[in-house]
Amino acid sequence: MNQPSPVDRAAVDRPRVAGRPHVDRAPVVGVLSLQGDVREHERVLRACGAHPRRVRSVEDLASVEALVIPGGESTTMSKLAVDVGLIEPLRKARASGMPMYGSCAGMIMLADRLEGGRPDQQTIGGIDMTVRRNAFGRQVDSFEADIGITVLAGPPVHAVFIRAPWVESVTDEVEVMGRVEGDPAFGRAAGRIVAVRQGSLVATSFHPELTGDHRVHEYFVNLVRTAS
Ligand code: GLN
Repeated sequence: MNQPSPVDRAAVDRPRVAGRPHVDRAPVVGVLSLQGDVREHERVLRACGAHPRRVRSVEDLASVEALVIPGGESTTMSKLAVDVGLIEPLRKARASGMPMYGSCAGMIMLADRLEGGRPDQQTIGGIDMTVRRNAFGRQVDSFEADIGITVLAGPPVHAVFIRAPWVESVTDEVEVMGRVEGDPAFGRAAGRIVAVRQGSLVATSFHPELTGDHRVHEYFVNLVRTAS
């Protein structure tokens, strides 16, 4: 087990509500299942003690307390969300405080502003940042790097980026949790922001669901537990 993160500690310190063991509670966490690597997130969420539930409709969304938005293709995800009538309900859920975590295409979905998006591309928004799609370059299908994440105890996260976005800029509202190292060996990617949080919204450019390191999901599940 890794050292408890600050969020773990907050959960432990918090008094139990109505006798419910707060820290052990298994929150129902939706996974937006219009497109993308849904199964991988479900597996990791289960390993972190949450109950994953697929979200494809407004009814599904109403039955979950938090939402993971997987990696995939944000233009397709956006189009499907509009087609099935989910885009506005997703925005409403986000605005009313539902915790959401987006990886890669999911990060794009949580961005208030996009560079390199399609003109008609819709996002859920909520994180006051500009995200650049396919930022690592069209030729760069996959890029790997160790990223120190400020809120996680233990070694840096081995991050896998697949046709990934990076965060071009953030406002003061946004907490930067991780960047690519400043080493010039990383070229244009050096120093780029790749993990952020704003309130109960978390986003990473990379795919922690693919590497067997569950700390990012654990962090999110703990955030869901303490948010409720
Ligand atoms: N390039 C994709 C997009 O723009 C994201 C890739 C991913 O999620 N692995 O949506």
